[in-house]
Amino acid sequence: MLRTTVAGSLPKPAWLAAPQMLWAPWRQTGDALAEAQADATTLAVRLQRQAGIDIPSDGEQARQHFVHGFLAGVDGIDFENKVTMGIRNNRYDAQVPQVIGALARKGPVHSREAKAARAATDGKVKFTLPGPMTIVDTIADRHYGDRTKMAMEFARLLNDEAKELEALGIDTIQFDEPAFNVFTDEVLDWGIPALLRAAEGLSCTTAVHVCYGYGIKANIDWKKTLGDEWRQYERIFPALAKSPIRQVSLEVANSKVPVEIIGLLAGTDVLVGCIDVASDTVETPEEVAATIRRAMKYVPPQRLLPCTNCGMAPMARGLAYAKLAALSAGAALVRAELAR
Ligand code: ZN
Repeated sequence: MLRTTVAGSLPKPAWLAAPQMLWAPWRQTGDALAEAQADATTLAVRLQRQAGIDIPSDGEQARQHFVHGFLAGVDGIDFENKVTMGIRNNRYDAQVPQVIGALARKGPVHSREAKAARAATDGKVKFTLPGPMTIVDTIADRHYGDRTKMAMEFARLLNDEAKELEALGIDTIQFDEPAFNVFTDEVLDWGIPALLRAAEGLSCTTAVHVCYGYGIKANIDWKKTLGDEWRQYERIFPALAKSPIRQVSLEVANSKVPVEIIGLLAGTDVLVGCIDVASDTVETPEEVAATIRRAMKYVPPQRLLPCTNCGMAPMARGLAYAKLAALSAGAALVRAELAR
């Protein structure tokens, strides 16, 4: 019980990409880049295991961005001519590629790093993909003219990709949907249906990560407008609890999400964020344990997986792994209490 895991991304080594930034430029090209990405994936899995993480992720070492990494392997998208678009309901502007034709995968997108991650541990391993709603909110549409239709097309491609990852031995496939708490009406109309299409027919563990975003300034400013209690999940969680998605990942540490909201996820595994990815202070094991204990009032330890609040891609690398070691140590404290 209380198996530890991570939300997804981890910092890349400086020999692979420029450190401590989003959309960091690669420092290798061609075959050397492909080899460096696979090596970094192997290393990320091993370093997570070394930090005591029970279910490591691929660390998203082979993608420049959690959404655009998958999109780079899809036909029908113009990456040359990016346009500025307000994303997450105009919370901030991003340079996004454009959908200009029918969408199709060029081939397996993430197989190489999935194989590297699989080979790097005898234990369970997790792989993350962007969710369809978040993709639709991070790309400009010049072809479909209908967000729902485009989301279902992306969901079909994601499903093909996910089935390949499962066949390669990936134990958990997680879809990242930070857009879910921005468009709370549309989530129920087409966000969750598209997510379920992406996860259709998978027999591995399926997960969805929802969150209020990385610790970048635009997100921190937006969070200030949300009031003292963030209750957006109240509308989404009952629908997720009824769905076949097995795990839900969300932030709890230092967040204004009232922890009792996880009680709405009856029957679902909950990945409880115990590590604040917006802070450069390493949590103490006791602080992690306190967050786990708070969450255990609403979710039994068998269904609770201590986790990070969100991806750690833009963080200093040593800091990120120190936080993962604290996460493991905190979970061990609570496990020892439960064993008494
Ligand atoms: Zn997140």
